[in-house]
Amino acid sequence: MSDISTQLIHHPYKPPAGFDAVNPAVQKSSTVIFPTVAALRQRDWKHKTGYTYGLHGTPTTFTLEERIATLEGGQFCTLVPSGLAALALVDMALLRAGDEVLIPDNAYGPNKTFAQHELAGWGVSFRYYDPMQPADLAAKLSGKTRLVWLEAPGSITLEFPDLPALVAVVQAHRDVHPQGIVTALDNTWGAGIAFNAFALGADISVQALTKYPSGGADVLMGSVVTRDEALHHLVHFCHMRVGYGVAGNDAELVLRGLGSMTLRYAAQDSATRTLAAWLQQQPQIEAVLHPALAGSPGHATWQRDCTAAACLLSIVFKAGYPQAQVDRFCDSLQLFRLGYSWAGPMSLCVPYDVPAIRTTPWPFQGGLVRFSIGLEAVADLQADLANALAAMQYS
Ligand SMILES: *Cc1c(COP(=O)(O)O)cnc(C)c1O
Repeated sequence: MSDISTQLIHHPYKPPAGFDAVNPAVQKSSTVIFPTVAALRQRDWKHKTGYTYGLHGTPTTFTLEERIATLEGGQFCTLVPSGLAALALVDMALLRAGDEVLIPDNAYGPNKTFAQHELAGWGVSFRYYDPMQPADLAAKLSGKTRLVWLEAPGSITLEFPDLPALVAVVQAHRDVHPQGIVTALDNTWGAGIAFNAFALGADISVQALTKYPSGGADVLMGSVVTRDEALHHLVHFCHMRVGYGVAGNDAELVLRGLGSMTLRYAAQDSATRTLAAWLQQQPQIEAVLHPALAGSPGHATWQRDCTAAACLLSIVFKAGYPQAQVDRFCDSLQLFRLGYSWAGPMSLCVPYDVPAIRTTPWPFQGGLVRFSIGLEAVADLQADLANALAAMQYS
């Protein structure tokens, strides 16, 4: 081994063991080295007792998976490259041609789009149900139903559903599909902090780690958590086959975010409630949607099942304001920037055309704007909103 090129790759130095730091080491690799052929043949990655290939886990991703499982009050976690990938993975792991998936009408939009395009093309049918009416879910369950998505609260419109009631409806019909019916919750809003998904009856809890666990608005990742090992294996073997690996440096960013997550959740919760109460008093606004506000849809259920609320709130303008004026309001904001996603340091807003994205009745005529409240001073955010509301009047 005299040539420098060989020495630089096969170097004998090993640093001393025992380096102990606050944050876990970031280990990255596609290839994992085996000492012998026998070891290569025997190594089992399924139970996290060893390493075979970067796609199937590294010490860094295993560490993050264990912490996310703890956050959710679950047992088993699989990481994927985005929150949307987590939704798609659950669909792909569970659904086969001839099955049907039921999705809340107010669900995260791309969950519905995946069903409309990919699932429908694969012979899997889908239907939307009204999550505020457990009887509507009961009416839509059939012998084909294999998977029921849950989301609390609804994306954009923030109605808080009665999760135990929806789960009870599914449990009463569980045997109609030969393999049973699985409930999967998109728990990005609750994040494992506002309520425990498994205590409320979900079989699977999915999160966009992109949001709270990261907290930095600079990384995309998702997780699929279960308590049941057989269900975990269904998801995890599909994960292996579709190749949804996550990068070590991305896992590092989420691991860094986790330590401050409960503090960020609480700070943004408090700021969001302050702004929601203030917005309720503004004359241009017809309704403020936030589960912790009395009068917001599902408020009593939120109060029964949750100990906190996330940083999202939506406002609906009075019917007299045309969309162009609502758009001007959004463009006038200085601190709230226009952009998707939420739970990062910067406050964000996006106007939505709600009737275009739902089939259940929508009681309002005016435009809706959804806000993500960041970590700026609440007084500054309130002044920004006040200025933009005033600017809207004079246009
Ligand atoms: C953002 C979000 C997702 C998707 O997460 P990405 O990491 O952006 O793919 C899924 N569900 C909800 C409720 C979300 O807000």
